[in-house]
Amino acid sequence: MEKLRALLQKIDGQGYKSYKQLQGSYHFGTFQLTIDHVQGDPFAQPSRISIQLLAEQHNLPDNLWNNRIRQTALEDFLGREVAAAIRKIVKGKRGTGHSGAIEIAVNGQKILRRNAVLIDETQLEARLLFALPGSGRSILAKEAAVMFFEELPQIIASGLVWKQQTHAKMKQHIDQAEDQEYLRKQLTQLNAVAFIADGSQLPRHSGINDRPLLHGVPFKSPPELKCHITLPHQGTVSGMAIPTGVTLIVGGGFHGKSTLLRALEHCIYNHIPGDGRELVATVESAVKIRAEDHRSINQVNISPFIATLPSNRKTDPFSTENASGSTSQAANIIEALECNCDCLLIDEDTSATNFMIRDQRMQKLVPDSQEPITPLLHRVRDLYEKEGISSVIVAGGSGDYLAVADHVLMMDNYQVLDVTQKAHALAGNKPIEQQQKIPFQKQPLRHVNLETNPLPRQSQIKIQVRERRLLEYGNKRIDLSQVEQLFDRGQTETIGLLLAWCHRHDPQQKMGLIVHLNDALQKVEQEGLDFLFPWKTGHLALPRLYELAAAANRIRKN
Ligand code: ADP
Ligand code: MG
Repeated sequence: MEKLRALLQKIDGQGYKSYKQLQGSYHFGTFQLTIDHVQGDPFAQPSRISIQLLAEQHNLPDNLWNNRIRQTALEDFLGREVAAAIRKIVKGKRGTGHSGAIEIAVNGQKILRRNAVLIDETQLEARLLFALPGSGRSILAKEAAVMFFEELPQIIASGLVWKQQTHAKMKQHIDQAEDQEYLRKQLTQLNAVAFIADGSQLPRHSGINDRPLLHGVPFKSPPELKCHITLPHQGTVSGMAIPTGVTLIVGGGFHGKSTLLRALEHCIYNHIPGDGRELVATVESAVKIRAEDHRSINQVNISPFIATLPSNRKTDPFSTENASGSTSQAANIIEALECNCDCLLIDEDTSATNFMIRDQRMQKLVPDSQEPITPLLHRVRDLYEKEGISSVIVAGGSGDYLAVADHVLMMDNYQVLDVTQKAHALAGNKPIEQQQKIPFQKQPLRHVNLETNPLPRQSQIKIQVRERRLLEYGNKRIDLSQVEQLFDRGQTETIGLLLAWCHRHDPQQKMGLIVHLNDALQKVEQEGLDFLFPWKTGHLALPRLYELAAAANRIRKN
């Protein structure tokens, strides 16, 4: 620590590059500071530092992190405490560019596996961005000294060290995450695809803010679908289990249909206490399916939904640089199934109408022989009965779906009613006339590989994430704006790194795309995110296989 103080004094007023001399480790008594990488100028990406605390320095009891889920929740909690301490303690900008800012990459409503804070038997480590202050291009050492010797020790004492006052809050954060995970795991036994506890708050603050809406109508399950689950920490809770099969959500406009579906999309992940969705869980492999005009499609067999197109264009497999609403939605389903998706989540608001339905009058006017599309309406039952893939579909506009649904939920002033019996009575026993008799069959895995999408050949592929759902990968821009379950930019960056890793490791990609991506993901799950970078970073977050494959599937040829 004294060495760092002396160094700072020596370089005061010198050119910014002299900060490089600070790289190295320093003992601060209550923790160790490592300056891992120093930025080139005050406008560049801030410097990277990491803080290490030994067990006797942090005093966190082992029972807070004795399994993977608890460990992730504890790391998440500590990251948030550090972020809160930074907001409280760090003074604003002091100097040019980013000068004086301190950051940690833990935010949002979800508890994701990250590498901003890592705990193991030997130590606790937190990785921060630390913008070393400069005036123009000269070093402001006194300001830097304030950051290192005043602010940093306070941030660490407040955020990373066990304290009696915050123990209850920390334990709640971790126990609740474990309860959510347990809930998700119980879904299989319940023959359900999702569970929503009574009292949950599903609506969000706004379309761009994932925090809960204040004073929303709390969730209440209809008696027909109500069940009780006993959780490891919170005891018995009641709520609605959405059964496997085909579930339809109907109801008038603005009554909360999309809000319910969106909660299911998000609850593949665990949420922090106070979020309102802490006791909502959806099966891990549930995938939101939507139309995505203009996406590129690479060798996907969409023939179960779309047969030969005009001018005899085949769809088994089908490739295009500019998909239509229906072809993109079909490809999105087939690709989800390749990733072993168990549940499709579909909203009429974001679907292609001709992909969803084809009514009887239209069947008379436009004969089947001229219509390449077999709408989802004629496929959902097969998907469930033959392949075990459930679907939850918001369809307020088409009564045809009543005949193919196992359960029908009606949203009425933000309350769910089970209207299955009434709906089945209306639909009668007459099965929907099947437009095409070919049964749905899951496709064998494609042997498309990353290589057929010509990728930049250089060994170091440059990866940048300027927006959460836009991945810049070498000279490619991978548009993930419609991949709605990609929630964190740290996940987007990890996806880029995993693609590059696959590419480096098996340039021929002999194994087939999904097998390969799955292997890479398994490696991260076992070893953590750190192997993806040759140096220490703290801004990565673990994605699902589906979002990883979604990026690979959207790489354009040119
Ligand atoms: P729909 O899909 O049925 O047209 P939405 O789900 O889009 O309706 O919801 C319409 C509006 O109602 C949204 O602004 C949403 O935030 C709000 N909303 C949804 N659920 C609730 C609730 N439980 N309490 C209060 N407001 C809600
Ligand atoms: Mg809607």
